[in-house]
Amino acid sequence: MCGIVGYIGKEKNALKVLINGLEHLEYRGYDSSGIAYILNDKLIVKKEPGRIMRLKETIDFNNDSYIGIGHTRWATHGEPNKINSHPHNSEHITIVHNGIIENYLELRKELTNKGYSFKSDTDTEVAAVLLNDLYKKYNDIIKAIQEFKNIVKGAYAIAILCDKEKDTLYAIKKNSPLIIGTSEDANYLASDVPAIIEYTNKYLTLDDGSYAKITKDKVEVYNNDNKLIDLDIKTFDSTYENTNKMGFEHYMLKEIHEEPTVVRRTSNIKTIPNISKYKKIVITACGSAMHAGLVGKYLIEKYANIPVEVEIASEFRYKKLFIDKSSLVIAISQSGETADTLEAVKIAKKYGSTTIGIINVKESSIAREVDKVIYTEAGREIAVATTKAYLSQVEVLALLAYKASKEKDLEEIKKFINDLNELPVLIDTIIDNSNEYKLISKYLYQKEDIFFIGRGIDYALCMEASLKLKEISYIHSEAYAAGELKHGTISLIENGTPVIGIVTDKTIADKTISNLKEVKSRGAYVIYVTTDKLAKKGDFYDKCIILPDINPLLQPLLIIIPLQLMAYYIAKEKGCDIDKPKNLAKSVTVE
Ligand code: GLU
Repeated sequence: MCGIVGYIGKEKNALKVLINGLEHLEYRGYDSSGIAYILNDKLIVKKEPGRIMRLKETIDFNNDSYIGIGHTRWATHGEPNKINSHPHNSEHITIVHNGIIENYLELRKELTNKGYSFKSDTDTEVAAVLLNDLYKKYNDIIKAIQEFKNIVKGAYAIAILCDKEKDTLYAIKKNSPLIIGTSEDANYLASDVPAIIEYTNKYLTLDDGSYAKITKDKVEVYNNDNKLIDLDIKTFDSTYENTNKMGFEHYMLKEIHEEPTVVRRTSNIKTIPNISKYKKIVITACGSAMHAGLVGKYLIEKYANIPVEVEIASEFRYKKLFIDKSSLVIAISQSGETADTLEAVKIAKKYGSTTIGIINVKESSIAREVDKVIYTEAGREIAVATTKAYLSQVEVLALLAYKASKEKDLEEIKKFINDLNELPVLIDTIIDNSNEYKLISKYLYQKEDIFFIGRGIDYALCMEASLKLKEISYIHSEAYAAGELKHGTISLIENGTPVIGIVTDKTIADKTISNLKEVKSRGAYVIYVTTDKLAKKGDFYDKCIILPDINPLLQPLLIIIPLQLMAYYIAKEKGCDIDKPKNLAKSVTVE
C-alpha cells in the first residue's frame, strides 16, 4: 500500500531523504511515485508512473532542498499514470495522500460548481482543491484542516506543503498510517518506520483525527478535538542494520504489514480458472493451508454451488477416497514441498482427477506435479508461522468461488472488482489500528487457555486464529463451532477465561451472540469480533473489535488480520521467539 515520506530539516537533504524513504517503503507495493519540494523559494513537483528508478532519473540531486514530501501511489481512483500520480497541487496547496476519500464525487461536483477544474481522476486531487479552497477562506492552514476534517469522509493520511509557508509541513491522519519522526536536525513524516529508521529511532504515532504542524525544530500535534497535545515520543527498539526486517522487530510483523501488497498482487482474476464444471471438489492441505481450504469450502459451496470436502493431506493419503475423473482436487501449500500434500496430489492423479495447486514457491515440487498451478503472490515468507501466505491462499479460493459462481451481470462484476481494489486499503486501515489489539493482548498474554468460537465460515477463521496463537505464544487454545460449545466444552469456561467470538455472517449472527451470552454468564471474558454493519451493543462482551464491511466473499480476508496481530502481540508480551517457534519448521518435507 502507498507510502508517504516528509522531510524538513536544517540540512539540505530533502531529495535524498525522500527518495531513500520511498525506497524503504517499496515493500508496501505501488505503481507510481512522486515528490514535491521547495527549491529557491519555488515549488517543484516531479512524478512518474512505474518504479522509483524512473522518478530518480528525473531528479538533480545536486540541487537539494530542506523541505519536501514524497509518495508511492497505489491507485484506487484513476489509472496509475503520470497525471494521477501524487503529489497533487491546487494553487497554494500541494499534497500526497494515502487512503480513499469516500465522498470525493460529491465534493468534486461542489467544487466544480464553485469554478474549480480538475486535471486528474483521483479522489486525492479533490482533497487538494478542497484544502486550497478552505485555506483561501481562512488564510490559516490549521483552520482549513479543521474544516476539511468535518467535510471529508473516508480514510486519509495526508502530507501538505503550502507555498505561503515554505518552512512548514502539515499532516492529517484518519484511518491510514502516518507517523512523525523527530531528531535534533530534522523532523520527518512517514507511513512506516523503515522510511526513517536510518535517520532517527524517535517517533510519535498520530491518533485518528489528529493533525500536525511540523517545522525543522518543532512538532505540534492537535487531537481530534483540536486541542494541542503533549508529544509522546517513542523509541523504536530495532536498528537500521536489521535491514531485512525493514525496521520491523520480527519477520512476522513485517509480513503482516505486507498483506495489503500481497492481496493486491494476488488479485489477478484473469489467471483464475473456471471450476464450475466439476461435480465434486476435494481440497487437501496441512496446517494453516488446510484452514484456508476450510474457508474455501464455505465460499465455493455457497457461491459456486459445488460440494467441497476438505481433507488433511496426511489423512487423505491413507483413507478410502471417493474421487474420480469428474472430481477436482485442489492442493494448497505455501512451500510447494509439503510431503503429505505432494503425495496426496500423486494419489489424486492416479484416480484420474484433475489437480490444481495453490502454491507460493515457483517451480516447487507440487507446482510441477499438478495439472494447473495458481501461484499466490505472497513473496518470500520467512516467519515460520504463516500470515501473508495464508491470506493469499484464502484470496485465491475466494476468486475461484467467484469465477465459478452463477452468471453475473456487468454491474456485479464491476462492483466485485471495485471491492477487490478496496481490499488492500481496508487491510491497511485494520493494521493501522494495531494499538487496539496490543491493548487486548496485554490482558490476554498471561492466560492459560483461550477459546475461539464462530459458526460457518467464522468457525474456519477461528481455527486459523487459534492455531496462530498456539504456534507462536504456546498458549493452549481451541476453536469451536459456536453451537457445539454447550455439548461439552462449556465446562472449561471459568471466571476470566477469554472467549473470542467471530460474528460476520448476518444469517447466523444472533445464534453466535446467544452462545457468547452463554459463556459470558459463566464468567468468560468475551471479545466480540464483528463488522460495522453487524455490530450490536449489549452486555454480552467485554471488548469489541469492529471491522469494515466488504463483499462477503472477501470478508474473511479482513477478519483474520486483527487475530494474526493479536497472536503476534500476545507472543511478544510473553517474550517468545516469534519468528522461530519451538519445534516448528517452515516447510514440512517429511510425512
Ligand atoms: N486514493 C488515492 C489515489 O488513487 C490514493 C491511493 C494511495 O493510497 O496510494 O490516488
